[in-house]
Amino acid sequence: MASPELARQLRRRARRQRDALRGQLGRHRYDALVAELGRVVCLAQEAGATATLLGLEGPLRHAIRSDLCLQGWRWIDAHLVACDMMDEVLRRVRATRPDWYEGQPEHTIEGGVLIERTRCIHCHEKLPEGHRKFCGALCRSSHHMRLARMREASEGEAAWLATRSI
Ligand SMILES: [Zn+2]
Repeated sequence: MASPELARQLRRRARRQRDALRGQLGRHRYDALVAELGRVVCLAQEAGATATLLGLEGPLRHAIRSDLCLQGWRWIDAHLVACDMMDEVLRRVRATRPDWYEGQPEHTIEGGVLIERTRCIHCHEKLPEGHRKFCGALCRSSHHMRLARMREASEGEAAWLATRSI
């Protein structure tokens, strides 16, 4: 865990870097692109092409990054500007992300639609008679601790935790 002073310094550095990259693109061009992308995002949802305002986030981020790379930008700079720009677009159109719980597979399982589980969520061994999710207390505890770590982790740590078991 970073100290508050270190966290402040990191935020300040990230803000300076972001502002420099925005400046490299040109303030007017940046604002015009954000406004245009906001219209595209809203139109796509209104037309039913995307289910939510977040539906084009990935493709648009990729397109912005790709265009900037083709203009000679370094990949990391293009990526940071693309992320920043899409964050701004989604903020302006008031897109709301699902919370952590809504992002879990169990959230989509409605009553009566639940397909009976035959394997332990954690170790994937066959479930003993009478068990519905976990083979035992150890797996239940490990699974919940892993979820808690992912909830509290930074984006980079969460990606590491998620891919570690693959
Ligand atoms: Zn198990």
